[in-house]
Amino acid sequence: MRVIIDGRECLARRGEYLLDVAKRNGIFIPTLCHSDALPGQSSCRMCIVEVVEGGRSKTVASCVYPVLGDIEVKTNSDKIRRIRRTLVKLIHASSPAGKHMEDLLERYGPLPENRFEVAEGEKCMLCGLCVSACEALGTGAISTINRGTAKEVAPPFKEPPEACIGCGACAHVCPGDAIEMKEQGGIRTIWDRNFEMLECTGCGEYIMTRQQQEYIKAKDPEGTVELLCEKCKRKKTVDGFRDAFKNTGF
Ligand code: SF4
Repeated sequence: MRVIIDGRECLARRGEYLLDVAKRNGIFIPTLCHSDALPGQSSCRMCIVEVVEGGRSKTVASCVYPVLGDIEVKTNSDKIRRIRRTLVKLIHASSPAGKHMEDLLERYGPLPENRFEVAEGEKCMLCGLCVSACEALGTGAISTINRGTAKEVAPPFKEPPEACIGCGACAHVCPGDAIEMKEQGGIRTIWDRNFEMLECTGCGEYIMTRQQQEYIKAKDPEGTVELLCEKCKRKKTVDGFRDAFKNTGF
């Protein structure tokens, strides 16, 4: 497939999403509700671009728009910049205290006075990335509840969720830093539950919760859960290679 993005010719596989093609070719498209580890959600709409296909122009969310033929794409046209600025105002109204606003204001600010009602102090913009991460894990401990202005992310009955394993994936993917997760004295607290942390057997750094270890074991009863942090895993691999070379006499 031949895709021209902002005048640059990029190669794409059939069915590949536009956002991925742009990223691979070093072309920046802003995103908020996107994680490379999860499918596109097109919820924040910040990744909108203008696509010219078959002589017609349309505005699409690049994270869910598959390339199916030769197309031309504009990621930063006047029209796109105008729409993105309106989106930023809407996002600011829904979650002015979210961490994502720092970057958005730097890029698109200062914003004129917001004519939309501003939810002061709110960090969550309801992008749903946390729910998708939890679902992808197979835990499904949180979901969006209610509708309209009462919509929010919460565990069932807003009680500490039994299904939660304290992995923290929801907090890590949240662009607004809206999910509170604390760690103190080997205890992680998230969604009003406390989880015992397990240490890396190499360096002693806390790496996962006991419930997370049990969850992984239950998924693969034959496998073993190595209690090593990424750094110690790499060290172990390098040491293994070194020993193997030593034994061959090199
Ligand atoms: S910490 Fe709990 S709610 Fe968050 S992703 Fe992990 S299992 Fe789901």
